[in-house]
Amino acid sequence: MIGEDAPWDMLWASMYNAKCLTLPAYRHGRVLFAGDAAHLVPIFGVRGLNSGLDDAANPAWKLARLLEGEARDDLLDTYSLERVQAARENIAYGAKSTEFMAPPDFAFRLLREATLRLALDEPAVRPLINPRQSAPVAYLDSPLNGPEQGEWTHPLAAPGQPAPEALLASPHGDLHLTQCFGAEFTCLVFSDGALPAAVAALTTHGVAVLDIPPEADRLGQARERYGLPGAAATGLVLVRPDGYVLGRWRGLDPHALLACLNDKGLLP
Ligand SMILES: Cc1cc2nc3c(=O)[nH]c(=O)nc-3n(C[C@H](O)[C@H](O)[C@H](O)COP(=O)(O)OP(=O)(O)OC[C@H]3O[C@@H](n4cnc5c(N)ncnc54)[C@H](O)[C@@H]3O)c2cc1C
Repeated sequence: MIGEDAPWDMLWASMYNAKCLTLPAYRHGRVLFAGDAAHLVPIFGVRGLNSGLDDAANPAWKLARLLEGEARDDLLDTYSLERVQAARENIAYGAKSTEFMAPPDFAFRLLREATLRLALDEPAVRPLINPRQSAPVAYLDSPLNGPEQGEWTHPLAAPGQPAPEALLASPHGDLHLTQCFGAEFTCLVFSDGALPAAVAALTTHGVAVLDIPPEADRLGQARERYGLPGAAATGLVLVRPDGYVLGRWRGLDPHALLACLNDKGLLP
C-alpha cells in the first residue's frame, strides 16, 4: 500500500485494542510509574509515546533537586498529581478521536458521516474531526503553581501553562526563547532596559536570569504572549526546569518570587 514491491514475509501480527487506562497514582514510595506502565491511551490520539516523554521530563528535575538536597521529598508527589491529570486529559481526547475513527454504534457513525459531509463547507464543525492532538497539557491545579500578581493580559502564560515560545533578537542573531531554558529555574525579566541588581542576584539562589528588554523583544512576541500590557510594562515570569510557568509578578522586585520558591521548598 505504500509502494513496497520487494518480496516480504509477515513476521508477526496481532489485534490492536484501544484502551483508556491509568493508575490512580504514579508514585508508590520510591517507585515512580511512567509511560505505558502508568497509562494506556488509544493510538488515535497520538499521545502514548509523547506523554511517556513528558512523564520523564516532569520528575527529572524534581529527582535531581531531591538528590542534591535542594527540595523536600513531597516534591515527587507533584509528579503523580500533574501527570495523572495529564493522562486523564489525554485519555479524554484519545477516546474522542477513537469514537470518530472507529464509531462504536449507529449514533457515532451518524455523527461522523454528518460531520465529514458538513466539514466541506462549514469550518465550525471541522474540529469535531480532529480534536486537539498536539497542544501540550497545562497543570492548572498543580500545588507547585505560584501566584499571578498584578495585571497580565494573556491566560496562556498563567501559572501551570507551558511557557509560550517567542522569537528574540540577540547580538548573535535571532533565537527562540525556549532555547535559553536550562536545568535550573529561569526568571524571564521583562525590563525597561536596565536590569536591577536584586534581580541579577537571583543567580545566587540557583535561578537563571534571562533579561528581555524591549529591544530584544523586537517583534513584541514575548510581551504579547506572556501577557504584558504594552512595551513599557515590566514583570518577572518564573519558568520551571521542565518549561512550565510557575508564577508571574508585575514590576521588577524579586522578593515575592523568592518567597514563593521558599514556601514551596524549592530554594537550594
Ligand atoms: C500501533 C501503535 C501505534 C502507535 N502510534 C503512536 C503515535 O503515533 N504517537 C505516540 O505518541 N504513541 C504511539 N503509540 C504508543 C507508543 O508506542 C507507546 O505509548 C510507547 O511505546 C510506550 O513507551 P514505553 O517506553 O512506556 O513502553 P514500551 O515501549 O512498551 O517499552 C517497554 C519496554 O520494556 C521491555 N520489558 C518489558 N518487560 C520487561 C522485563 N521484565 N525486563 C526487561 N524489559 C522488559 C519491553 O520489551 C519494552 O521494550 C502507538 C502504539 C501502537 C501499538
